[in-house]
Amino acid sequence: MRPCEGCVGECCRQYFVSLNGQDVSTIATEMRLAPEQFITIAQEQEATGVGFKLDATKTTFSLVLAKRPGSDGRQQCNFLMELGNGIGRCGIYPSRPSACRVFPAQLRHGAIEFRDGIVCPKGAWNVAGNDLAAWRSLLLRSHMEWGVYATVVRCWNAQAARTPRAEMRTPNDYYTYLLDRYERLSTLERDLPPDELQAVLDRWGQRDGAPAGKAPWERFLTKVEQAIA
Ligand code: SF4
Ligand code: SF4
Repeated sequence: MRPCEGCVGECCRQYFVSLNGQDVSTIATEMRLAPEQFITIAQEQEATGVGFKLDATKTTFSLVLAKRPGSDGRQQCNFLMELGNGIGRCGIYPSRPSACRVFPAQLRHGAIEFRDGIVCPKGAWNVAGNDLAAWRSLLLRSHMEWGVYATVVRCWNAQAARTPRAEMRTPNDYYTYLLDRYERLSTLERDLPPDELQAVLDRWGQRDGAPAGKAPWERFLTKVEQAIA
């Protein structure tokens, strides 16, 4: 049995789940929800590469899955379904965000590991017995999605930087921008030959060993910029 099957879903209660633009687009489209129904925005303490601006100041924000009180009064993800006996299940499992798909795995120097110090029951996860190829695929895709999102945010921020405070944009303006740009991006990946897409995924963010000129992932990001301009 996979560790999650008998778990209370502590991860869905204790953590705040960061969202990227692909997550917003997927949940909004597949669950037929308006972004404001499942997103909370949080002001960043320090600007990250995926913090979006609403005006020309330096203040940046991130997107987080909204929470609500559960039957025990504790905060939990909006989408957590309570089955009784404390057992929780994801109510949007096929559409869940990238952060939830890869939790609790991470890639370190190319190797998959399960994080220490997490809320999962002790010993729940170990590398032996897990389908590492499937985890790798999820992790590589997550890296790509967040990399694409950083480009989408940068383009938005360039526009927001020209917005006077008196004309401050709203979170809803940002959600509208995301849904429109990810609609444009939806065909980009489908149009790539499978081997080129695999090259993009496999070496996302890596320059070493790349042939002269742009690496596959850099060429892909150029297409992203052109599509969302
Ligand atoms: S990821 Fe960990 S805390 Fe979350 S449901 Fe699975 S075992 Fe439980
Ligand atoms: S989207 Fe699903 S898996 Fe992710 S925190 Fe919410 S209930 Fe848990």
